Amino acid sequence: MSILPITVCGDKILRKKAAQVSKVDNKIIKLIADMFETMHNANGIGLAANQVGANKQIFVVDISVAEGYEDAKPLVLINPKIIAKSEETISYEEGCLSIPDQREEVIRPKMIKIQYQDADLKTQTIEADDLLARVMQHEFDHLQGVLFTDLVDEETKKRLKKQLNKIKNRKVEVAYPISSSADYQIL
Ligand code: ZN
Repeated sequence: MSILPITVCGDKILRKKAAQVSKVDNKIIKLIADMFETMHNANGIGLAANQVGANKQIFVVDISVAEGYEDAKPLVLINPKIIAKSEETISYEEGCLSIPDQREEVIRPKMIKIQYQDADLKTQTIEADDLLARVMQHEFDHLQGVLFTDLVDEETKKRLKKQLNKIKNRKVEVAYPISSSADYQIL
């Protein structure tokens, strides 16, 4: 396994809709293992494949480091689809490994139902709420080319602009390896 560089806002792959996965070959198996290692190394609780430069519909989640979720199992979701959302929404402060050191309140549905394929390409469905629903919606958005900073109000966007430009130009200190250029892609 290896720790991969994480793409940052401004990188082209983060704005692409990720490609469907039709076969789990050795490359994909290694990618998933590397995504877990990269996420844990950066103290993240979720990571999408395009955040490590892979244009694939895959994300990993491990919320067991969060208080009250110690028993949560790590999950890998391939070709995920959100098939239901609660009407009830909640606001929660989100961050993103691709947007280091920026946190903002984002309003999202409290519960979702998500259908996906596991590492054996078997179809699974999970009903998730609270933190798990939050992380899954954030990672699902990544695979559509959407970042949480797209979901905040205009005033917040304005306030964030300068800092996002600094990140795009790699003029920030980050505690984990980041991509070398806006064109970075491994798969
Ligand atoms: Zn993110």
